[in-house]
Amino acid sequence: MAVSDHADLERFMEGVKKRNPGQSEFIQAVQEVAQDVFDFIEDKEEYHEAQILRRIAEPDRVVSFRVCWEDDNHNIRVQRGWRVQNNNAIGPYKGGIRFHSSVNESVLKFLAFEQTFKNSLTGLPMGGGKGGSNFNPKGKSDSEIMRFCQSFMTELYRHIGPDIDVPAGDIGVGSREIGFMFGQYKRITNRWEGVLTGKGIEYGGSKMRPEATGYGAVYFLCNMLAHKDDSIEGKTAAISGSGNVALHAAEKFRELGGKVLTLSDSDGFIHDPDGIDEDKLAWVKDLKLNRRGRISEYADEFSGAEFHEGKRPWHVDVDCALPCATQNELEEEGAKALVDNGCIAVVEGANMPTTLEGVKIFHEARILYGPGKAANAGGVAISGLEMSQNAERISWNHDRLHDMLTDLMEGIHEKCVTYGDQGDGYVDYVKGANIAGFKKVADAMLAFGVV
Ligand code: NDP
Repeated sequence: MAVSDHADLERFMEGVKKRNPGQSEFIQAVQEVAQDVFDFIEDKEEYHEAQILRRIAEPDRVVSFRVCWEDDNHNIRVQRGWRVQNNNAIGPYKGGIRFHSSVNESVLKFLAFEQTFKNSLTGLPMGGGKGGSNFNPKGKSDSEIMRFCQSFMTELYRHIGPDIDVPAGDIGVGSREIGFMFGQYKRITNRWEGVLTGKGIEYGGSKMRPEATGYGAVYFLCNMLAHKDDSIEGKTAAISGSGNVALHAAEKFRELGGKVLTLSDSDGFIHDPDGIDEDKLAWVKDLKLNRRGRISEYADEFSGAEFHEGKRPWHVDVDCALPCATQNELEEEGAKALVDNGCIAVVEGANMPTTLEGVKIFHEARILYGPGKAANAGGVAISGLEMSQNAERISWNHDRLHDMLTDLMEGIHEKCVTYGDQGDGYVDYVKGANIAGFKKVADAMLAFGVV
């Protein structure tokens, strides 16, 4: 990068920091994209002149609202809800809803910004958005969840629509919550339309949607390994999380001949040196999806497995790491441990799970590193296809969607290689994803003029 571009980048980032005080997650996400995009647009005056990156890094709008609900003891509770509509240059805003106590405006702005590039990479017509609440669903009864979801949708419904903004699930929002929200939308508007994705199969959901993010991340890993004439067969993996993404990633990694050694939740991780086989995985699914228990119970159930309280799984000796829990869960120290233990590939099922310092370690070690915006795009891609199916009032079969998912992940991998190949056998997947994602959105914005 030329000296003047460094200065430009620094000035740009100073502006971002000034305009978004205290929003560290958002600033981190913009910084990561900006350094690659500045390189790419160095000799492309039209993007500079039109201030394209500055415009993408300023959400179209942020809606913030009160969510009031009554708990089972008749206490009135007040939470905050948000919808961040980042950019709709290439299609309606699209991105999940997160319910977690850590949700704030900075987290949702980072997620909506990332989503803009991810959705662009899929090749489907979807803009970027994200929403959620600081509501913590843990320990709440089904009735409490229902009342909260209904209250949340009572405000959200006026900001969304099948051609405007189509939310989906994310952390803390699974099929139960989507059902409650879709029911409320339908009740308020008297319209059945594809306004949410991740719906149940009975009412317009797509086959393959629950599996798509985790499976897609593993397919992305397969593509990265194949590019190096390698495969998953016989490899070991550390996976974090034990939610939708982690469990499906574990399932596919195992199916393709690998051995999964760890899973985690916010209390700590379990290490099973014998591998988490099909039966054990079915047990974890039941624990998490039906009994809503803690991952520590795994070590009580299966001999040989250990629970490590308050720790993350990055010190376990593995070939591949798949962070599938949450943002910034893989820090410099964990990244170093993985590299020192000979890990050859890191693929992000979660959004921005690796800190900027951690990413630097992977780049310096020149191991395969697939960032979330490319590797976990399978979920939103199938969501995009759920929108198409709803619009056409049809539903495609499992095999067709599975083939589409594998093709989509291969296509995303190819785009990353096109823009990230360093010419010496090393592919910088972050750069590839950032530039390919940026270019499509930027070109659409140029076509619109100054709006
Ligand atoms: P789930 O709510 O199903 O699972 C989240 C998992 O992460 C749980 O095991 C949870 O543990 C753990 N977790 C959450 N917060 C923390 C934390 N602060 N520290 C440690 N562990 C934590 O969510 P998903 O599987 O759907 O999503 C996981 C990640 O993947 C998120 O980053 C999400 O944005 C991303 N993603 C999801 C997509 C999808 O299709 N679902 C699509 C693309 C990206 P606990 O139960 O203890 O909270």
